[in-house]
Amino acid sequence: MPMFVDTSPPGQCIFCRLVANEIPSAKVFEDELTVAFMDIGQVTPGHVLVATQRHAATLLDTTPEEAAAVMRTAHRVARAVQAAFQPPGLTLLQANGALGGQTVAHFHLHVVPRHEGDGIALTWPRQEPPSAVLASHAERLRAAL
Ligand SMILES: [Zn+2]
Repeated sequence: MPMFVDTSPPGQCIFCRLVANEIPSAKVFEDELTVAFMDIGQVTPGHVLVATQRHAATLLDTTPEEAAAVMRTAHRVARAVQAAFQPPGLTLLQANGALGGQTVAHFHLHVVPRHEGDGIALTWPRQEPPSAVLASHAERLRAAL
């Protein structure tokens, strides 16, 4: 996970300042609900962040329209990244909360070109619980939806 963590006080988030052009950024796209700009960390060349224009800390703080708009912009940016950089792979990453790996508390989605040996890793500890446990989890979610 990235080492940079934004510790700005509430209301002065680094991405809100970027949206307001109070700090410099390499923007690539902007519409009513979203903004896309180069990640200053550039894990790989062409690494872009797509964020909401409005401050929303996590996915759960966005409206359905904002969440959909971020994915629409990410889709557009991903096609541009593919055309401009021709990476053999592409990963979208969206993190929520410190334990989720979020380092800037303003909703954003990473569009990351991927290459052999790029050093990016995400451990994925499969557990394969019994089907009754899956059914129980599904029931809890159906009740919440
Ligand atoms: Zn913000």
